[in-house]
Amino acid sequence: MRISEGEQNRMQAGSLSARWLPLARYVRSARSWIILGVLAPIGMLVLSAIMLLELRQDAWDKAEQTSKDLLQVIERDIARNVEIIDLSLQGVVDNLKAPGLVDTHPSLRRLALFDRAATARDMGVMLVVDENGDSIIDASADTARRLNNADRDYFQAHRTHADLGLHISRPLISRLLGEPVIVLSRRIDKPDGSFGGVVLASLKLSYFSRLFARIGLGREGGINLYLRDGTRVMRYPFVESDIGANIAGAPTFRAFVAKREGSFKGVSVRDGVERYYAFTQVGELPLVLNIALGTREIEAEWREKAAIIGLAVLVLCGLTVLLSLLFGRELRRSAAMQAELARLAQTDVLTGLPNRRHFETVFAQTWETSRLTGRPLALILIDADHFKRYNDRYGHAVGDAVLKGLADSLSASVCRPGDLVARVGGEEFAVLLPGTDHNGATRMAETIHRAIAGVAMPSAGIAPRTVTVSLGLAVHSGSGTAADLYRRADAALYEAKAGGRNQTRYAA
Ligand code: GH3
Ligand code: MG
Ligand code: MG
Repeated sequence: MRISEGEQNRMQAGSLSARWLPLARYVRSARSWIILGVLAPIGMLVLSAIMLLELRQDAWDKAEQTSKDLLQVIERDIARNVEIIDLSLQGVVDNLKAPGLVDTHPSLRRLALFDRAATARDMGVMLVVDENGDSIIDASADTARRLNNADRDYFQAHRTHADLGLHISRPLISRLLGEPVIVLSRRIDKPDGSFGGVVLASLKLSYFSRLFARIGLGREGGINLYLRDGTRVMRYPFVESDIGANIAGAPTFRAFVAKREGSFKGVSVRDGVERYYAFTQVGELPLVLNIALGTREIEAEWREKAAIIGLAVLVLCGLTVLLSLLFGRELRRSAAMQAELARLAQTDVLTGLPNRRHFETVFAQTWETSRLTGRPLALILIDADHFKRYNDRYGHAVGDAVLKGLADSLSASVCRPGDLVARVGGEEFAVLLPGTDHNGATRMAETIHRAIAGVAMPSAGIAPRTVTVSLGLAVHSGSGTAADLYRRADAALYEAKAGGRNQTRYAA
């Protein structure tokens, strides 16, 4: 068999529309809109949550990088300055060994012993004290300013330990300057190796406070410099009573000295504020430096953004849900309306029975099924006898009421689910009985006559058995068409009328 081009196109178009049919149905379904209206916001929420978490991570990465950079800058500054001072101290220790230096003129000796570091801005005093703690050489004066430092910790430490190297003292008030300093010192050995005194340089704490103050760390941020034994050398923001305090027992400090450098989050015992701590040892010195940033402040900018984005997303999600619900409801309403319209289009207004259009559709389908299965199909056509007279005698309204009575009696007569009673004309009805043979149809005809005998309207003076009908009955015999079956039933009805009415006639 050859298929024409037009036919092919039509078939293709058909399979295409068949492919799109489920999609079209999906788009029209109220439920799919509601599901979409819920899924889309969930998707939006998940995406924005991921985005916000990433933004938060960015804020943290930035804070961590900033603290690391700042730590490095401060650490290098302190380490370099301490190194310069230490080199000067080592220079003094070495130069003191030069023969004859002690006996040279004081100003010459000063020049030989102390380099320019002694005049640096934050440098306090630079002195050599003898084994009794008395000052003997002063970097700032030919005649050493008189004082005795034998009571200082660093003096006693050097006297008892020969190999301390560079010693950094706790913060103390300088006797010569009257201001807070830390003292960097080295031991001087006599030629025989015994204790010969100490060379010391004091570094003003103002150096640290100025260095720290240059760095902005927010209201909850802070910088601390500790000796490894837990003594605080300087802190920012500056609190005088905190300088020199020992916090060796605090958990945060134990974390600072556990590693050379690192970071962690912790709650401050002092003010209960959660902070991010980054710390490092200063060079090879017994100093620990830490920077603390308030976690709230780290996340502040993010929080603001998150609140705005979160609110916007929530509003959008809410709107989406609302719109989909409304849209779904409208779809449902219009579907219900369409169904109702379709039902009305198939229903007779007066009797509520299926109308002629519906009858024809069902009749064609039922006839086709019966033809395919070979099962019998009976059709009974019913026409009210002399109905015109009711209208003429009692009026149209009573005629209508009688028609309704007829419809109710017919409906009450059929019992199988597949049976159909329809109003096919003014005072004409049809009863379609699938699977019913001649005998069954005959019994049904008798039932119908009996039922209609009961139709009465006492108020209008219509007594029972007054209203009668004529029936034409035909059963599908396996040949012919649906139209043939209808014609045969109609012919039988005509015979019933001609035969005197109120009776049933069977088609040949
Ligand atoms: P026959 O026994 O030969 O069937 O006589 P008949 O009067 O019933 O038949 P005919 O066809 O002459 O008249 C039918 C009448 O049915 C005409 C019309 O006034 C009436 N009729 C048709 N539809 C309606 C309706 O909806 N309401 C009312 N009240 N009367 C209707
Ligand atoms: Mg008629
Ligand atoms: Mg009639």
